[in-house]
Amino acid sequence: MLSHYTTLFKKLRVDKNRNYYPDATTHRAPHKPFLLLSIIDLTGQGRITSNVIEPSFELADTFNSYWSTVMPPGRRGLISYPFYHMRSEPFWKLIPNPGYEDRPGQNFSSMAKIREVYAGARIDEPLYALLVDPVFRERLRTALVQTYFDPAGQSMVGSQGLINFAADAYAADVKTGVHEGLESFAASNEEDAVRIRDQGFRKAIVSLYDHRCALCGIRMLTPDGHTVVEAAHIVAWSKTRDDRATNGLCLCRLCHWSFDEGLMSVGKNYEVLVSKRVRVEANNPGHILTLSDRPIFMPGQDRFRPDQNNLAHHRQEIFMR
Ligand SMILES: [Zn+2]
Repeated sequence: MLSHYTTLFKKLRVDKNRNYYPDATTHRAPHKPFLLLSIIDLTGQGRITSNVIEPSFELADTFNSYWSTVMPPGRRGLISYPFYHMRSEPFWKLIPNPGYEDRPGQNFSSMAKIREVYAGARIDEPLYALLVDPVFRERLRTALVQTYFDPAGQSMVGSQGLINFAADAYAADVKTGVHEGLESFAASNEEDAVRIRDQGFRKAIVSLYDHRCALCGIRMLTPDGHTVVEAAHIVAWSKTRDDRATNGLCLCRLCHWSFDEGLMSVGKNYEVLVSKRVRVEANNPGHILTLSDRPIFMPGQDRFRPDQNNLAHHRQEIFMR
């Protein structure tokens, strides 16, 4: 079975275009390899638990992590494309939602569209059994990596796979508050260690706040799994090396910038503080003024709420009254 599926993985039907795809992907479209690598990762993390592959945010997020690591900046990669076109491979069967059984000519330009039409995709049972096994799973990964990437690409894809795995474990530690640091993940260099930490912290915070900005409440995801929010440290990591959820806030880009610049903060009763400085000169702070004194959005469980000691530090050291 292993050799059967390794062979299929090595013979994926992918576009080839010397002018469009870089050396790193051997001038071939990396969509299908990235999707399969993402499925391998999520199965290894115990997040895919059956042979039905759902078009989830996590799957898109993992796909995007490979894409942004390997592909040149500005090149857009949509996971909806391989999710649909993988049907040309014998191990992938799309599962239509009721009412969508026979609708040819659909447009699959986004995951939202995929989710509307399909409940997911079913992969062969024997393939899923291989993916659950740590040894066989890595053999399948190796087949993909060695077939579709040049040595530079192999190195990027290989380290991204390790980072995805470690970041997932790190995210679990952020939530439990264990946060033993990166020692146990054996990052091969400082750059990878930073990426594991950043990615793990982001995963944990964004999921605890369900993609909602703590300060303004905005929640926006693109159909392909890009989210407007980021994970912010209340007290800078460089100061206390504190990656616990209680030192984090999920913030949209504008609120993150405003928080770091000291234009916004959080009060003793978890209310939004807006600095008077936003009004000076020719500023036009718009909706930010309307947020003043409103309660912030927080995770449901108390133990994940921002620590008031951390917030006090931000009010004293960063916030401009
Ligand atoms: Zn915001």
